[in-house]
Amino acid sequence: MSNARQKAIDAIANTEYDLNQIDFRTSHLKELFGTLVFSEEVQKARLPKPVFKALQKTIKQGAQLTDPAVADAVASAMKDWAIEHGATHYTHLFQPMTGLTAEKHDSFLSPTGTGTAVAEFSGKELIKGEPDASSFPSGGIRATFEARGYTGWDPTSPAYIRESPNGATLVIPTVFVSWTGEALDKKTPLLRSMEALSAQALRILKLFGKTDVVKVFTTVGPEQEYFLIDKNFLYSRPDLLACGRTLFGAKPPKGQELEDQYFGTIPERVLACMADCEAEMFKLGIPVKTRHNEVAPSQYEIAPIFEDSNLATDHNQLTMDVIRRTADKYGLVCLLHEKPFAGINGSGKHNNWSMATDAGENLLEPGQTPHDNAQFLVFCVAVIRAVAKYPELLRVSVASAGNDHRLGANEAPPAIISIFLGSQLQDIMEQLEKGKPEKTLPGGFMEVGASVLPKLPRDAGDRNRTSPFAFTGNKFEFRAVGSSFSIGGPNTVLNTIVAESLDFIAGALERATATGTPLNAAIQDLLPGILKESKKVVFNGDGYSDEWHKEAERRGLPNLKNTVDSIPVIIRKDSVELFGKYKVYSERELTARYNIFSEKYVKEVTIEASMMVHMAKTMILPAALRYQGEVAGAVNATKSAGLDAGAQFEHLKELSATLGKFQAATAALDHAVHHKHSGDPYTDAKAVRDTVIPKMVELRTLGDALETLVADDLWPLSTYREMLFIK
Ligand code: ADP
Ligand code: MG
Repeated sequence: MSNARQKAIDAIANTEYDLNQIDFRTSHLKELFGTLVFSEEVQKARLPKPVFKALQKTIKQGAQLTDPAVADAVASAMKDWAIEHGATHYTHLFQPMTGLTAEKHDSFLSPTGTGTAVAEFSGKELIKGEPDASSFPSGGIRATFEARGYTGWDPTSPAYIRESPNGATLVIPTVFVSWTGEALDKKTPLLRSMEALSAQALRILKLFGKTDVVKVFTTVGPEQEYFLIDKNFLYSRPDLLACGRTLFGAKPPKGQELEDQYFGTIPERVLACMADCEAEMFKLGIPVKTRHNEVAPSQYEIAPIFEDSNLATDHNQLTMDVIRRTADKYGLVCLLHEKPFAGINGSGKHNNWSMATDAGENLLEPGQTPHDNAQFLVFCVAVIRAVAKYPELLRVSVASAGNDHRLGANEAPPAIISIFLGSQLQDIMEQLEKGKPEKTLPGGFMEVGASVLPKLPRDAGDRNRTSPFAFTGNKFEFRAVGSSFSIGGPNTVLNTIVAESLDFIAGALERATATGTPLNAAIQDLLPGILKESKKVVFNGDGYSDEWHKEAERRGLPNLKNTVDSIPVIIRKDSVELFGKYKVYSERELTARYNIFSEKYVKEVTIEASMMVHMAKTMILPAALRYQGEVAGAVNATKSAGLDAGAQFEHLKELSATLGKFQAATAALDHAVHHKHSGDPYTDAKAVRDTVIPKMVELRTLGDALETLVADDLWPLSTYREMLFIK
């Protein structure tokens, strides 16, 4: 055998990688951190004092930059700093609706007209760019007469240097908007939602007498799951290369059954790659903290320390980019798809979320005695109310063709949105619903049974892995986000729905206190009613169980099973009103997203289906036919030798029958893929879900059956047992 599959294994067996690329004895972590960032410290050292002050006021308090001289001074300092770091070009980095990042590079070079050139970068160039926007998805927002798109500097996310083999680039995070000012990206709505939440949270804090707080930030720490497999496997797997997931592949005899992967020893090459990624991320100012093996073979996780949600979103995009690029250096490929391999766990992103004041006070910090921490209770109840009122918006914010393989399977949260509070908080909420909460269940210490060990404090609540939205100590964790997602979308929704809740609560409390009711009494009057209405969304049991599905239905909780079921929520009247009220998305912007998500779904499924047909016809069928010929020859030879060929004939019959069905299923899928689209994106998405996906499932089953019948030396596709275990 000498096909791409065998060559992959030979290459892996025979390649030596240089794993010792960084010496942390000479490049200390704390010295690496932020070296490639135009950080506060760099700004302070390089900007005139008034300019530095104006810029910091924008970053920390959200004040608008109005003076063009500030932008000019910042641009000039940025340019000098970047050139010292070897930059030849700058780019406005933006996050179009593809969910990826986009960039176009411009050189700093300007000819002087006398045969020489100077390096130039003005405030105007820093503030605004005009990439050719016509090729990005706009969902119909940009008619041809207004086809322009603009990038606009986001001063709250610091510029940084991207190093590459020949020269470096100054990267400037930007928003991306149409000529009419509509958001064509994921960053603009996120920034708007952060402002909406801040404004409402400030009203509550004001009631508590905290008038010195100028801004409330939403904070996010995303835990990122991903797979790393040897890059050579891509050469025999066009599906992984083009779609990021395997479209065929029989279940291996050993998968994750032994539960020996999670937190297991990290393989050496992978650990080398992780350390290299982390060094890159430290330089970029990304505060990565945790790394470990995940549940599935070859699956890993990386988690940073939380930051404000805008920065966390930019940093998460950058994290995915750094892992992808660094993996390549170690002969690995990073798979960020939600379900690269069937039958084992897929990948998600746990979006840890909270709110904090500009002074750093975490508004979801319960303290030692949450039962009489009125401020905490108000903010916490606001989140519960938001999730209870808008579960479908949260659901659609994590919907994609890729995530459909995960949500609702017994490895990821169910598609039903519910909240886990943990025993301590649950108890307090129950007390609160009935009247004034009087006590907090103690955490205490654990009895380990060996007196030489120091005492271990016990957390007041246990963990629950099956809940899509869990309170974890001093933050909520939204666990349904897909691994390849930009966290911008889910956080935009989260911020907006909580802003609405805070608005509602602030309004009620302001009215009550204005008529002389003391604040605590007003809170006591208000919260029990909210909890009564919202408690249907609270569920502390096993989210994977069938009973929960029935119970959720009884409670009237929505269960939007897939992307196509979820998409209409975007343009529902209540969604349009909500996002309009807080100026996060206009109706046109929502309609655009409704169209873009539908189109994206259709395209992704169609590409996968076409790829399946292609692989079926040109890889699996030929292998199976060759093998069939071989077996037929063996049957005949056995017979001519005068022996009973019964068993061999039975094998041939099974092979032939499976192959026949496989060919029929290939033809059926081929036909379904070529079905003419209606032109309406959502109608097409429905059609694709109902006609194409079932045929993909059927073809896969038959292809995987062939994998277990055909001679191994003829099988052309790298198998699960190879891809997941040869390291
Ligand atoms: P757990 O083990 O419960 O998942 P960790 O302490 O490991 O919790 O934190 C997981 C993630 O949550 C980390 O990225 C962490 O920075 C983040 N996180 C912690 N506190 C907050 C907060 N106040 N806001 C947002 N994210 C937070
Ligand atoms: Mg976690």
